[in-house]
Amino acid sequence: MSKGRLIVISGFSGSGKGTVVSELVKKYDYSLSISATTRAPREGEVDGREYYFKTDEEFKSLIDYNGLIEWAQYVDNYYGTPRKFVEDEIKAGKNVILEIEVQGAMSIKAQYPDALLIFISTKDVETLHGRLVNRGSETEDVIKKRMKRAAEESQSMDNYEYVVINDELEECVDTIHYIVVSESCKKENKGELISNIKNQLSKWA
Ligand code: 5GP
Repeated sequence: MSKGRLIVISGFSGSGKGTVVSELVKKYDYSLSISATTRAPREGEVDGREYYFKTDEEFKSLIDYNGLIEWAQYVDNYYGTPRKFVEDEIKAGKNVILEIEVQGAMSIKAQYPDALLIFISTKDVETLHGRLVNRGSETEDVIKKRMKRAAEESQSMDNYEYVVINDELEECVDTIHYIVVSESCKKENKGELISNIKNQLSKWA
């Protein structure tokens, strides 16, 4: 069985990437890595569904026993990707989505060079700010911190292979899926198939 691929999806807080990712999972059956975080759950979030919610001590011990493939501090909290799930899913041939911020994305690319890095953006900054304000779950101080972080993250957009605008949800979801499909058709990712076909056809030459 061929190995699955890591699909790293990053985007500004407020870009709507969470919704995009859950639609990708629903519509196209991607596997989704659930991160560990020290952030408090937002209303409606469930432990083990949106995140594994951890204390600082629990998070540190995850780092200590090498249980995370990457982790980063974002605004005032820690976030990290549990190792076992990702490694098992890739071995089982599943394409796994990691919805993570830019430092984590760079760390994944360094460890897994064939990971596909996709950045989701709003079409402009007003839309981004408006979405954060309308979400209503964050204080003004947190919104400011997230905008500041977005300014920093915009510096890393060039390191992503693809930038997709989330203006219309369905279109954004389909575009990302088509990117993954076309990537899988690249000749670099078809090495085994190409050599099998060449071998088999050599009998006919
Ligand atoms: P939020 O608090 O809005 O759920 O997430 C804040 C940021 O942390 C988002 O940019 C999200 O993509 C990122 N994030 C979530 N999980 C992880 C993770 O496991 N690792 C890293 N590096 N970032 C994460």
